[in-house]
Amino acid sequence: KKPVIAIDGYSSTGKSSISKIIADKLGLIHMDTGALYRGITWYALQHCLDEKGTIDLNRLFSSLHQIELEFKNHDGILILYLNNTDISKEIRSNEVSDHVSLVAKQKEVRDFLLQSQRSLAEKGGVIMDGRDIGTVVLPDADYKFFLTASIDERTNRRFLELSGLGIQADREQVKQNLIERDKIDSEREIAPLRKADDAIIIDNSALTKEETIKLILSYIQN
Ligand code: C5P
Repeated sequence: KKPVIAIDGYSSTGKSSISKIIADKLGLIHMDTGALYRGITWYALQHCLDEKGTIDLNRLFSSLHQIELEFKNHDGILILYLNNTDISKEIRSNEVSDHVSLVAKQKEVRDFLLQSQRSLAEKGGVIMDGRDIGTVVLPDADYKFFLTASIDERTNRRFLELSGLGIQADREQVKQNLIERDKIDSEREIAPLRKADDAIIIDNSALTKEETIKLILSYIQN
């Protein structure tokens, strides 16, 4: 039976890109759960702003049932669709990054996304990355990893990722966003960002992506 693997950790530790490559190597389905929270946030910014331009959370909660999120595979790359619109680039915007942790700390939002995450893993053969996968979503996962890296290294990685997507960014602003999100994600009441007791910690500050992948695979294949 193929394994169920949970990858959690701080922002921009490479969780998603590493998970995707491991999924390809082991023939697993990959789910980037951060993309789901980003998708809901993008929707809220489009449809649920109040007169002051801030997100009206109650309006968002009553709209959740109208949101359909779906990953579609395009030549091995998973593209996120919201109500049949490709939003894979939009969800990486600075605006979404600035609001996603506020949206993700809401119980209504987490409950809404929980079932689809769990049902994906029922048959095994899944690698899922996020903040609460090993602790809440898949507490019985076969393997759990918790990724961390220095803030400067993570800032660099996010900066390069945004440049690659053609998104303008300021290095200091990127750094502040990572610090702010990690703080909100760690301090929230529901499903806070936390290492599961049985997760293996990997600090990849000084590791390349390939080295991190090799290290993770060494645990899985032995
Ligand atoms: O992984 P990514 O950085 O795209 O996640 C964006 C945000 O979504 C996180 O900062 C966090 O607020 C939220 N998130 C979460 N639980 C997860 C995955 C992401 O709360 N499992």
